Amino acid sequence: MPIRILIADDLSFMRMVQKEILLEKGYEVVAEASDGLEAVERFQRYRPDIVILDITMPHMNGLEAMHKIFEIDKSAKIIICSALGQQQLIVEAIKAGVRDFIVKPFKPERVISAIEKAIKS
Ligand SMILES: [Mg+2]
Repeated sequence: MPIRILIADDLSFMRMVQKEILLEKGYEVVAEASDGLEAVERFQRYRPDIVILDITMPHMNGLEAMHKIFEIDKSAKIIICSALGQQQLIVEAIKAGVRDFIVKPFKPERVISAIEKAIKS
């Protein structure tokens, strides 16, 4: 069974880039979300093995979505994807229990290493 991943980012281009990196490595992208509300809803519905959550998204940001997802499943494997200059938010996310974080712009290897770390965690 391939590892099933949910990608949440408000930019379709960013989701496409991540999806290509993941598919290339044989992971399954089970769903995509374009804001935090969708991310929580899709997590509930698809129960992915791993969630990649952008921080800055409309309606509900990635950190709020992270807290909601942890309420649904406190062992959820979440990777936060941030922009430069969001160190404080990354610290908050790590304290809350995310498995790793990726800073944009990222290299494909960084995405894969975060996924591998989350799988092992
Ligand atoms: Mg964003």
